[in-house]
Parts: sequence; C-alpha cells; structure tokens
Amino acid sequence: MGLPLSPVLADIVMEHILDEAMTILNLQVDVCLKYVDDLFLMVPKQSVDYILSVFNSININIQFTHVVEQNNELAFLDTTVIRDAVGAISFLWFSKPTCSNRLLNYRSNHPMNQKLNVVDNLIKRMYGLSSTKFHYQCSRNIKKILMMNDYPLDLIENRIKKHINSRENQQVSPPQVDTNVSSSDVQNEIMYRGLHFHSSCSQNIGKILCEDSENLRLGFKPTYTNRAIFSKLKQKTLEEDLYNVVYNIPCFGDGINAQCELSYVGSTGHKVKIRGGQHVDDIKKFNRDNDLEGTTAVVHHFHDVVHVPDTDNISVLAIEHNKTKRKILESLYIMTNDTMNFRRDTENINSVYKSLLRK
Ligand SMILES: [Zn+2]
Repeated sequence: MGLPLSPVLADIVMEHILDEAMTILNLQVDVCLKYVDDLFLMVPKQSVDYILSVFNSININIQFTHVVEQNNELAFLDTTVIRDAVGAISFLWFSKPTCSNRLLNYRSNHPMNQKLNVVDNLIKRMYGLSSTKFHYQCSRNIKKILMMNDYPLDLIENRIKKHINSRENQQVSPPQVDTNVSSSDVQNEIMYRGLHFHSSCSQNIGKILCEDSENLRLGFKPTYTNRAIFSKLKQKTLEEDLYNVVYNIPCFGDGINAQCELSYVGSTGHKVKIRGGQHVDDIKKFNRDNDLEGTTAVVHHFHDVVHVPDTDNISVLAIEHNKTKRKILESLYIMTNDTMNFRRDTENINSVYKSLLRK
C-alpha cells in the first residue's frame, strides 16, 4: 500500500470482486461496508465459510481472511461494532492494544493552539466514532490518554465541555453555508505563511505581522525536527556512480604546468566513473600518427597541447534521464563555460538562444 495509486486500485479491484461474488452468491446481505480492502458484512453465521470460499474463488491471487464476532463484538477500522441482545448495533472507539497513545506532549515547545488541536482532535474522534451511550466511557479514556501526555485535567475537562456544547448547538441549528462570495473576498486572497517557533518571541512577531496584513495567516513550525537531528538512513549515491548525467572534467594540464582553465563537458547514459575511464583509454590508445577523425575533444586537446583530463575531479552538472533533454543540457553547459568542446557540440541549440545565452 506504499504507492499513492494503491488505494484507488484496491478500491476498483474490491468493487469488481464484490460484484462478482454477490452475483454468484445471490444472497441477501443486510449490511455491507467497504473501506479500501476491508469489508464488513452481516450474513447468517452458517454461510460464513461458503461466502469466504466464493470470494477466494474469484481470483487465485487475491485471497481473503475473515474474523467473526466474539462476544457480540467485532473490530472494524477504528471502531468496535457491538450487537446487543435485541440485535441493535452500537459503536465504540477502538485502538489496537499495541497503540502507545503517545501524543504531542503538553510541555513540548509548540504553540498552544497546536496542543489544543491535539486535545480537540482526540475528543472529536472518540465522540464521533462512539455511540452516545459510550460517551462517558470516552471522556474517561480521553482524560487518561491526555494526562499520560502531561495535559492538565482542568484544560481537558473544559475542552470536553466545549465540544459537548457545540454538538448540542449544532443539533439545534444546522450550520449555514455562506454561498455569497463577494468579488472583494476573491481579490483579497488569504496568504498562508510558515514561521519557525520560539516560545519567547514567535507569538509576538506573528501578532505584529498579522496586524499589518489582515490577509496573512501564520502557522508555526518546530525548529528542531527529527529529520534535522537524524541522518538520512539511505546512503547518498556517490557522484561517480551516477548515470544519465551531464558531467564536467577539468583539464589537468601537461603534468608540469598544471595551469589550464579549460574543461570538457560531456553527457553519458553510463556511470560517470566508466565514462571518465573511457576518456583516459582514448588518450592511451591515441597514436600521434592516428587520424583524429571521430575522436573526442579531449583527444584533440591532448593532440594539440598534450594536456590530459583530470578524471579524479569529474563533477556532475545535471542528471537527466531523457537523452534528448540531456543533449540539450550538455550544449547549454558547453556554451556557458570555457570548454575545449567542438563548436558542433552546440549545433542542436537554435541560434536565437545562442545570442541570449552568451550575454
Ligand atoms: Zn588543457
């Protein structure tokens, strides 16, 4: 489920399997709920094995497992579905036994509104996913979890009270949607900006900035993140191991007078170190009596002034997997640097751009 496309594909496949299975089963299913690849079905107990075998017969590569209710309860997504003696269904917020319940700590160096959001989101989630008869149990759970994360009890109780009041008000008067968006609202588009958070001064700076611009909305972000503290686990690819690149090889000179300002710009689909080695081989193989026809500008430079390429200091100028684009990039780098390359190496750039690039 790592790819963004996976849930969409899973949804399409599940729809197909459901259609096929229901046609074969020709069965009345009282409740059928689906969330991506999770299904919740209410079916007669004696049909469970048969239904499972039908689902598993549709595609040999897609096999289902099943869980049946225990003590009239069954966990589905973030809820426990509970069936009472008369068959009525109710829901209770569910978290896995392995859930650590670790939330943003109250003493953490974050803006207060972010901490209040943590409290409000937990309250909304627990109350929203639970039937009314479990709300007292929910409030006890909310207090337990939040106090484990150092939130003060009076703050938690105030937020729970506020949530209950707003729910009651919503039930009395449903929210009105304002459809009259004036042209001035569109013109005065809201700007959202982020600021690093420092508890001593960020709130004051934000206040001053927002006073000057009523369309500005500021959000605070932490200065010290895990990403900043810990190194990336994946080792960076060495430059010499990169491929599909435009590269630059400085000239080493003739070994006595190492002063040469020229470099060679090339592009390759192979690894940089392999292409560098090929340039050295070209020079080793070159005999002064040989024809220069078909050799690179590196060999020409060696022929003219006996300078060799400094392959220990090859640098990658750009990575481009499309060959045509790579060739254009190569030409652009040749035109904007002092190189030993041939004039023909820039022929694929239109003369209109050449005059602009040289400025
Ligand atoms: Zn040189």
